[in-house]
Amino acid sequence: MDNDDIKDEIKRRVDIVSLVSRYVTLQRAGRRMRARCPFHEETQASFYVDPASGFYHCFGCGAGGDVFSFLMQIEGLTFPEAAERLADMAGLRWRSSPGAKQASQQRDTVRSVNEYADEFFQQTLRSDAGAAARKYLAERGINEASVQGFNLGYAPDSWDSLLRYLAGKGISGQVAEQAGLVKPRATGGYYDTFRNRVMFPIYEVNGRVIGFGGRTLDPDEDAKYINSPETALFKKGRTVYGLNLARQAISDANQVLVVEGYTDVISVVQAGIGNVVACLGTATTADHLRLLSRYADEVVFIYDADAAGMEAALRNIETFENAAADVKVAVLPTGQDPDEVARDLGAEGFMNIVEKRLSLVEYQLRMIFLAHQEQTGSDRAAAAREAAQMLTKVPDAVRRDEFLATAADWWGQGNTARTEAMQRVLTEELRKVMPQSRYGRGRYGKARYAGQSDRQFITDAVSRSAGDHPAGCLKMEAAMLSAALTDSDFAGYMAERLAVEDLVDERDRVIYTRLVEHLQSGQGYVPQTVIDKLPEAGAVRDRGVELWMQEVDCGLERKVLDSNIEKLQRYRAWRAWREQSARIAEAIDGGELSPDSPEYLEFKRRSGELGGPGSTGYHTYEADWGVAGSNHDTAPRADAGIEEAKDDEGS
Ligand SMILES: [Zn+2]
Repeated sequence: MDNDDIKDEIKRRVDIVSLVSRYVTLQRAGRRMRARCPFHEETQASFYVDPASGFYHCFGCGAGGDVFSFLMQIEGLTFPEAAERLADMAGLRWRSSPGAKQASQQRDTVRSVNEYADEFFQQTLRSDAGAAARKYLAERGINEASVQGFNLGYAPDSWDSLLRYLAGKGISGQVAEQAGLVKPRATGGYYDTFRNRVMFPIYEVNGRVIGFGGRTLDPDEDAKYINSPETALFKKGRTVYGLNLARQAISDANQVLVVEGYTDVISVVQAGIGNVVACLGTATTADHLRLLSRYADEVVFIYDADAAGMEAALRNIETFENAAADVKVAVLPTGQDPDEVARDLGAEGFMNIVEKRLSLVEYQLRMIFLAHQEQTGSDRAAAAREAAQMLTKVPDAVRRDEFLATAADWWGQGNTARTEAMQRVLTEELRKVMPQSRYGRGRYGKARYAGQSDRQFITDAVSRSAGDHPAGCLKMEAAMLSAALTDSDFAGYMAERLAVEDLVDERDRVIYTRLVEHLQSGQGYVPQTVIDKLPEAGAVRDRGVELWMQEVDCGLERKVLDSNIEKLQRYRAWRAWREQSARIAEAIDGGELSPDSPEYLEFKRRSGELGGPGSTGYHTYEADWGVAGSNHDTAPRADAGIEEAKDDEGS
């Protein structure tokens, strides 16, 4: 088999649903599956997977393709790297180029070094050398089931134990250094990075070990915890501890609890709460939040009130407010950490604290309120200014209003007049700091707006296009092509009547050309062949998948279809007329053409037919070109638009 054959075989063998499910939680939606997009931040699911064809597409950000592009996009791989991994999954062998081979070999090497180290640390914990570590874990209340579940280990108090163990596996110091497990000596040679530490291996969601955290047992050691350095595999800002074990519980609860440390995660899990993880690195990043929001709608950070984590979060409010998931904080009683709370109060006590969660903005407003509650007069104005400043960090206007009301409520403490007064002061302050604010706009250019149906969102997304054409026209074109990609009768009927040039979107023309070729090949109409024959990557292919994924009801009446075809043809005639009119205007201005010339008179006659100069007939389609299937009733109105334009000109 050559690589092309292997590629086809991979597509047959690797199920897109199970591949995508490793990264996001899919839900059934008719013949398709859907999820919140892993490639952009969103609160509603615009990301669709089609099991039958093996395609995925996001109507929000336009990401789309097959198993190859999915793996490339989500793991940041090159094509050969993705192909190699997929071939592995399919039980096939991919022939890589030397360069790609080297890069992927490096990652493979780091991966296998990590696996050996993981094994070594676990063995050592169980050996005589691990006695002190086992004692430490027992004192921390970590039981045997947790030691096994989290694969805890121990790095012995030695400069070269791991180095020697790895050498026994044929791994050089130089290679071990790539995994961050050893460091070079100034005098040559290497020494172990982790010494006399309880080891917490860190796994990706799919269970591969990518790095380690180590807790020292030496009371004189300053660095209580250290982590693996960043490697080809390990990126702290994107890694979450415990996700491999918590995944299912998070999906079930549709909520993820985030604590600060390894032992916090372990104690909470041990208390019987499964949906808990810890973010690595000192601050929570947008990447962490994006990763977590793939699995649940709500992310709750559990902080010790005085902890550095809380401080960092408060400096970072915008990141939290901009996350796709609903982000909350739950604050522990002063001086306690999640570890203690879980051990002392159990699952119930812990969940009582989670119950009191607030958004970061609410938390901050509450802090402002508490600091100022004893004050009146000018101090109240100062508090309002501070609160308004906080509210400007909420990008969503509706949420901002809710927070404003909450803050005013707290302030009023049941006194309506006081609440209303505060509401006015806050609104006034907000107006000062956000003079340009426009309510109702989403967080992203392409975001949905409240009340918009999925179907409408999708058809709008599909009719987005380069070029200056009426959106209604693009929508109709997209709907017709989508329908032709599902129904061979429809495709045949369209092919007999509609020329490639009648279409307005360049990408649609390429797709339609392939479609007609395929129809005429006499091989029997298999719509997916049309997509498969498009260029491997790029705008046309993305468009093809997008059209394919747009669910269109094919029960389109012939009458509507005919009128749609006619509208596209008229629009083409109008585009030609517009070009001609520009040329003629130039010719008359330049004195090259006389207003009495037959050419100009002919032009005028045709202008009358088309709605004439100055007529907006062709632009008024915008609202109702009529989308196939869903809008039968609106199609005649678009026709009426044309009729009116003609009548105006004729009279
Ligand atoms: Zn997307």
